[in-house]
Amino acid sequence: MIENKEVTSHDCPVCGVKLAVSNGMRNATIALIDSEIGREDYNRGQIYAKRYSYNGTDRSPQGHVIFQEVARAGLPVQNIMYTALWMHPKPDGKKTDYACMEYLVPRLMDEVQQCSHILLMGADAVSFLARQPILYTMGLEIQVPLFAGKKVVIAPSPTQVIETTVGEFRNALSVFNMIIRRDK
Ligand SMILES: [Zn+2]
Repeated sequence: MIENKEVTSHDCPVCGVKLAVSNGMRNATIALIDSEIGREDYNRGQIYAKRYSYNGTDRSPQGHVIFQEVARAGLPVQNIMYTALWMHPKPDGKKTDYACMEYLVPRLMDEVQQCSHILLMGADAVSFLARQPILYTMGLEIQVPLFAGKKVVIAPSPTQVIETTVGEFRNALSVFNMIIRRDK
């Protein structure tokens, strides 16, 4: 259990690569779990980090999608933690080289243990954590043994939204928001 709620950065003990940190409220009861951190966000060391440019503050493409759609859906933005399964870049090439999961999955479980509602975004988060194909679970509330007692909804990843369309993501957020309000 993480007693210290301060955000700290460290390396993955399996591969030695630096991990990015989460974003948002550390005592939040809602978690949005992406599959992987985008390159821009990784370079900044935090998922969906703010960046500063000549015309003010903006975010990476993934961060932009997330914050825009979360606000649009009317989710309680002050009560959300944003994190990901892969908080460092995925290993290149070999699809089976997922030794880091032995560290990354428990790390994530620790981080979201106080959360009652979880949005799983993207294929890796769904296959590694829910053990179900995203194709048959998209936009649905499902039972996830790993997250027993928590409400889990499946969504596309923000990266997919950038590459395709936003409709499926909006639908999933709408279902997620409805469940959060129902459970209040
Ligand atoms: Zn690693």
